[in-house]
Amino acid sequence: MILIGLGEEFDFTKQLKKYPQYEEGCRILKEAGLYWAVPAWNMFFADKMEEEHPMAAWNAFLPWKTSTPREKLMKLLEGKDYFVVSTSVNDQLFFGDDRFVMPCGGSLKKQCGEGCEEVLQAVTEEDRKKLRQGFEILYEGERRFHGGEDFREKTADFFQIGKCPKCGAGLVLNNIYAENYNEQGYMELWNTYKKWLQGTLNRRLLVLELGVGMQYPSVIRWPFEKAAFFNQKAFFCRVNETLYQLTEELSGKGCGISMNAIDWLCQLC
Ligand SMILES: [Zn+2]
Repeated sequence: MILIGLGEEFDFTKQLKKYPQYEEGCRILKEAGLYWAVPAWNMFFADKMEEEHPMAAWNAFLPWKTSTPREKLMKLLEGKDYFVVSTSVNDQLFFGDDRFVMPCGGSLKKQCGEGCEEVLQAVTEEDRKKLRQGFEILYEGERRFHGGEDFREKTADFFQIGKCPKCGAGLVLNNIYAENYNEQGYMELWNTYKKWLQGTLNRRLLVLELGVGMQYPSVIRWPFEKAAFFNQKAFFCRVNETLYQLTEELSGKGCGISMNAIDWLCQLC
């Protein structure tokens, strides 16, 4: 059985933060009450860099572009009894089956901005198109805006992706950046995951933790360590650019690899 955790390194935060324009965009989105759009803004920005500054973006995004980690991951898991937990909000990794849970959400579903629990819908192609238009304005003209409110007024249409049928509030992307994050978006799969995890006890288990930092340690890092510690037949493998060390309890039944998780995944045949 294989338990996989995907973390922050898949959000490219470190690479994106090298671009002041990206950070400025995040700041404006936050001020405008549109922080829920950040996961989509990340992908938009990474694509934009690739298009407009291929040389500068070369080192930052090349592995991602040339040998997609998603395909590598799927190949690795082919025919195995696995579960993937991802705290990354990058849903380009998601391969749409019932063994892949994203507790921090992403940009695949939308929810009520006020948090009405039962309101969850799939993001449409039309929504994506609108958001891209909004990001285009954010990217091109961020200096013309007098703060978030001004931006919101000038781009209002592009960030309207529907209304809540319950309370009439605007819909927003269902992720942890949303002010009233609706956790029902992943709860069903989370329960499936919990049951699957119970079934790993006394079975041969590979725990593969990829690029998970200390942003939400209680979701992947600590429970994964625990799962490996209590299982006699477990092997724990941690791949991380900086936080690759294993705890003392796991010495002898695991390894830490000091490498960026995307690079590591891309080099697998
Ligand atoms: Zn509502």
